[in-house]
Amino acid sequence: MTRSIRWRLTVWNAVGVAVVLVGFAALVYWLAGRAFRQHADRTADTGFRLVETDPRVATKPVERAKYWVREFDEHMGVRAAVYGPDGAALAAHPGVTGRGLNAEVVGRRSETDPEGQRWRLAVESVRAGDQELRVLLMVPLRDQDADLAALGRAMLIAVPIGLVATAGLAYLLARGAVAPVEQLRKTTERITADRLHERLPVRNPDDELGQLAGTVNTMIGRLERSFAEIKRFTADASHELRTPLTAIRTVAEVALAGTPTADELRDIIESVLEECGRMARLTEQLLALARDDAGVVPRPLERLSVAALAREVVDTMRPLADAKGVTITFAEPAPPAGVRGDPIRLRQVVVNLIDNAIKYTPPGGSVRVGTAEADGTVRLTVVDTGEGIAAEHLPRVFDRFYRVDKARSREQGGTGLGLSIVQSIATAHGGTVSLTSTVGVGTEAAVSLPAGPPA
Ligand code: ADP
Repeated sequence: MTRSIRWRLTVWNAVGVAVVLVGFAALVYWLAGRAFRQHADRTADTGFRLVETDPRVATKPVERAKYWVREFDEHMGVRAAVYGPDGAALAAHPGVTGRGLNAEVVGRRSETDPEGQRWRLAVESVRAGDQELRVLLMVPLRDQDADLAALGRAMLIAVPIGLVATAGLAYLLARGAVAPVEQLRKTTERITADRLHERLPVRNPDDELGQLAGTVNTMIGRLERSFAEIKRFTADASHELRTPLTAIRTVAEVALAGTPTADELRDIIESVLEECGRMARLTEQLLALARDDAGVVPRPLERLSVAALAREVVDTMRPLADAKGVTITFAEPAPPAGVRGDPIRLRQVVVNLIDNAIKYTPPGGSVRVGTAEADGTVRLTVVDTGEGIAAEHLPRVFDRFYRVDKARSREQGGTGLGLSIVQSIATAHGGTVSLTSTVGVGTEAAVSLPAGPPA
């Protein structure tokens, strides 16, 4: 609790305000005291001027000195004494005599008498004809001191009240300022894997908290999409694995129920093996994708020639194309530069693309594989004269498990993962993959990889 931002803000505010208030009060107190002293000094000045401008002081000094001592006492409450050039008192108020006041030192000072009464003492030389008299004036500071004490008392009450009031206000302000953070914390706590649709409230998108909430919301959005993708992928993968399992089970159950002949048994075993092969392919592909997703780089990159790789795969797959009545050719206008990559995974790219081209091209059609280099990019193209892909499906064929015609693809051994694997490998190599297609005319798949040192 005491460590919360709200409390820290309040305490710091209170300390700051206390320092300012106390400093301010001390300054006002000091200025008031100075103003009071200046007021007393001005009273003394008036007294000096009166004596100075009295023309009779020069001719009748003792008489006029007595007169002024009496006058000051009666009209201004000021005690006075006038000393001759020899230092002897010409006249003095009884409150001045015998107090050992030093009338030699010209100037002003504040003094406290034995009764505790404070005075402003002023001594000045006054010319009277050809002699120099010395006038001492004692202006009482009693009233000013009372005023100053009253001011001090008022401040002793006002400063703590101001302090408590500002601390309270600071607490309320801090609570108001921190409240959205508390709200953000509560909402964030509520958001779990299955509540990723929730978003943090954004009160003001332009302030710091609004921006923070916005950033967190974007992050939750990304998490939501990733989670949805993972869910879909897991569901699809389970479904894909269940289909061959169900097929195997059905075939086995049918076989068990009857008395199959040797030929029938052979057919059954063949179909079981076919389904096993499908499952093996699928698990292998799933593993490859999982490895890609995890960012595992299994083997060090090697310098290799895409042309040599493509030629080798074309030769390996020619029997497959021949069996389907599809012509496959390899064209290489000029040997392109090498690339840096993982030969096994790049081979998978070429295999998947050529496999698709053969799979989706009817007998009598052709598949042309080619490599070329331009602008620091090595391009591998696989062009077929197959059925093509309709424009609405084109953007989705790289999605995992996406197939234009599910049943047909499955029939031909497709899993719907081939192109996503191609894309994932190309991306991992810093390259791209694209498909252009016209229904009924054919498809061109192109993989571009950054050219590396020659193989
Ligand atoms: P599959 O294992 O089904 O071939 P892919 O990811 O390799 O999965 O391809 C996704 C879908 O894209 C295929 O089901 C098919 O409909 C379409 N496709 C891919 N390559 C071609 C091609 N060369 N010609 C026509 N359609 C293709």
